[in-house]
Amino acid sequence: EVSDVSEVVEQVFDNFKMIHPDYVFILDNDVHRPVQAQIYRNHLEQILIILMDNAVKYSQKRKEVHMSYESDTRNLEVAVQDFGEGISQENRDRVFNRFYRVDKARSRTKGGNGLGLAIAKRLIEAYHGKITIESALGQGSVFRVSLPILSDEDAQILTDKKERVQAANDEIPGI
Ligand code: ATP
Repeated sequence: EVSDVSEVVEQVFDNFKMIHPDYVFILDNDVHRPVQAQIYRNHLEQILIILMDNAVKYSQKRKEVHMSYESDTRNLEVAVQDFGEGISQENRDRVFNRFYRVDKARSRTKGGNGLGLAIAKRLIEAYHGKITIESALGQGSVFRVSLPILSDEDAQILTDKKERVQAANDEIPGI
C-alpha cells in the first residue's frame, strides 16, 4: 500500500494536540506537501504514535514536541523531537530492547512496559528503514525514522511484474 506520509503525520499531530492540550506541538513543515511511501498507513501511524507518546511521557518539564518530515528521491525521514529527560549514550541502544526501561522505579508510575520502541524498530526494519536517536541527558531527544521511497521506476517494475504474473495465471486453465 502506498501512503501519503504528510497526511498520516498531520493526522497524528492533530490527535496529540487534542489529547494533550497542556503541551505545545509544532509541525516544522510549513506547506502541506504530499510524500508517497510504500508502507501500510496503520504501520506508519503506529510508529508515529509510539514516538509521540514517548515524547510526551518523558518531557514533563518543558512541554514542547516537534514533528517534521522531509524526503528526497530515495528516502523519507520523519522526526519527533522533545526537550525532556534525554537518554544517556549507554542507554540509546538498549531502549530498543523488549521490556527495557531506563528508570524502572520511576517509569512504573508512567505506565508502559518497554515494548513501544521494540515494536517501532521491528516495523521500521520490516520496511528496510532505520531509526536513530540523538539525545543529550536533561535536554531532550530526537528520534529519526528513515524509510526508503519507491522511485517511479521501481514502482513501475513492481506493477509490470504483477501484471505478468497475473497474465501467466490467466493462461493456465482451471485457475
Ligand atoms: P510502552 O511499552 O508503553 O511504550 P515504554 O515507554 O517504557 O512503555 P518504550 O517506548 O519501548 O517503552 O521505551 C523504552 C524506554 O526508553 C522508556 O522506558 C524510557 O526510559 C526510554 N525513552 C523512550 N522514549 C524516550 C524519550 N523520548 N525521552 C526519554 N526517554 C525515552
